[in-house]
Amino acid sequence: MTKRKIGIDFDDVAVDTFPAFLAFCNERYNEQFRVEEFTSFRYDGVWKITKEQGRERFIAFDNSEAKRNICPMLGAQKAIKGLAIIHELHIITARPVEIAEGTREMIDRHFPKMFKDVHFCSSDNGAILHRPKPMACKEIDVALHIEDHPETARRCADKGVPVLLFDRTWNRSEETHDLITRVHSWDEIFKILSRP
Ligand SMILES: [Mg+2]
Repeated sequence: MTKRKIGIDFDDVAVDTFPAFLAFCNERYNEQFRVEEFTSFRYDGVWKITKEQGRERFIAFDNSEAKRNICPMLGAQKAIKGLAIIHELHIITARPVEIAEGTREMIDRHFPKMFKDVHFCSSDNGAILHRPKPMACKEIDVALHIEDHPETARRCADKGVPVLLFDRTWNRSEETHDLITRVHSWDEIFKILSRP
């Protein structure tokens, strides 16, 4: 088996962030939305808020105890542990560096010693630190990236990076692309990436 570098998005791929985030928002802002209603990645679609307000909500969530409710995706710990033996795994996340410490803690807690490195790619990280995910994927030289954000997946694929698109309600309208393969579980990902 050839050892490959694999990029793995953190939120909603390694861990199931959105349900915990939505539960926090429903309570904090007195709303009653369901995960299934989020059929696009745009915050303004369901929540009717701006991108900046969406970011503020996420920071509020990250500053709260509710972030402790973020669980690993079903089967992720087992699959990632197995894949870490075969390949070199990198977290490539759009989280801002200002929440890097808490993010690293969560990674250490759920996925101890499984990742070679963690890369923060948010546009909030300033001109020097900002490195869009497709650029990060190219620079780290990943053979493949696992992602749930439909636009990010397409931009990576357009740069020649093969993507496993983790099936979520907000990426189901994504058009097909030669380099994008939709996957539905970590079991499936493990099978694909452990094939000789
Ligand atoms: Mg994600």
